[in-house]
Amino acid sequence: MRIIRRPRKRILFLDYDGTLVPFKQNPKQARPDKELYGLLEDLSSDPKNKIVIISGRDRDTLDDWFGKLSIDLIAEHGVWLREGRPYWSMIDYLTDEWKAEISPILEMFVARTPGSFIETKGYSLVWHYRKSDPALGELRSRELVSHLQFITTNMNVKVLEGNKVVEVKNAGINKGKAASRWLNESFNFILAAGDDWTDEDTFNAMPDSAYTLKIGNTPTSARYNLHECGPDYCTEMRNLLITLAQEGHQIRRKVVSNKL
Ligand SMILES: [Mg+2]
Repeated sequence: MRIIRRPRKRILFLDYDGTLVPFKQNPKQARPDKELYGLLEDLSSDPKNKIVIISGRDRDTLDDWFGKLSIDLIAEHGVWLREGRPYWSMIDYLTDEWKAEISPILEMFVARTPGSFIETKGYSLVWHYRKSDPALGELRSRELVSHLQFITTNMNVKVLEGNKVVEVKNAGINKGKAASRWLNESFNFILAAGDDWTDEDTFNAMPDSAYTLKIGNTPTSARYNLHECGPDYCTEMRNLLITLAQEGHQIRRKVVSNKL
């Protein structure tokens, strides 16, 4: 990918899990390491950059991990937005009444699948099976998805299959709808990166000029796939961000030296 020289205003939409950090057995262990934190701090300290972390994680986790940085946040796949302020706003009025019906089904699958567990977020319920036996986890996830799709036919919810997770959430909300709120102003350079199919909504919401980047080789509507050259995909993604950050430094140095 060629990076545009001397962009005046850049926006980076970055998915978190599987894009900036590798998946962990326990999702709570995926806290940003020093290198990543420093890189995000570096990028966000350049006033020409706007950084938006766009994640399926809940608000509290994102606040805990990124609250001190001047970056914008999108939580729960687009339900909650934190833009330039220390508080969150909800994208639309939503209800979570459907949880009472869906929870017992997920609990039943936890009982039948050792190692699996439920994560409860404001407007979604997630069944995680990363720690389960892989074959049993796959089998149960297919059963669960088909059961949920049947049960939720007339409910205003959506069933998503992610990486070793099945998630039920309010329909009509996605990462792309949330990301488009940031595109009211014009940018000279737009990058959107993500690794799973929930990120396809982000890619589809981007203008044609954007650099959309799918982490991994699977089919995508993104313009580019990021291939694995180093130890893992996330290292490649970080290398790309390091290049962007260094370019920012070079530009700033040039501006300063021009002034002298
Ligand atoms: Mg991801």
